[in-house]
Amino acid sequence: MSDVDADARDVAMMQRALALAAEAAAAGEVPVGAVVVDDTGRVIGEGRNTREGDRDPLGHAEILAIAAASRALGRWRLSGCTLYVTLEPCFMCAGALVNARVDRLVFGATDPKAGAVGSLADVCRDPRLNHRLVVDTGVLADDCGAVLKAFFKTRRQKAAVTPTGSPPSPPDDGPASA
Ligand code: ZN
Repeated sequence: MSDVDADARDVAMMQRALALAAEAAAAGEVPVGAVVVDDTGRVIGEGRNTREGDRDPLGHAEILAIAAASRALGRWRLSGCTLYVTLEPCFMCAGALVNARVDRLVFGATDPKAGAVGSLADVCRDPRLNHRLVVDTGVLADDCGAVLKAFFKTRRQKAAVTPTGSPPSPPDDGPASA
């Protein structure tokens, strides 16, 4: 496969992850989406944030996509697979990527507040761990960041119009809790 084809596939898969992020936003969840692709380019797992709906702190897009991919392949080891996610993974998800032996991570927007793949730490490329991933960043980064910005802007506006008497929700101006 040429580099051009590989780049086109990265963009197509990130668009799919973005569609999942939009689905999350529509459900009132922080908009993050993830897709796992096997070594032939087949999508074998998808996920989007479900933390609010499932009341589950583990309900991150990457965790759900990894679990779905493992079910599809019938094994926990996701060697040969690539995970695409719209936002830089947190510590939990970066750890899951290492433990699942995913080969490659592609993410869109960086997360300076909670990202663990370059921002606060670099869990997926830590030479002390027994598995490292190839990491590519910035695919459709503007689009990935825009869905988050729009979501938090809307949420702040809703908080601002909360009737007097009930204090507005504490400000949450970024994807740190994504
Ligand atoms: Zn996470």
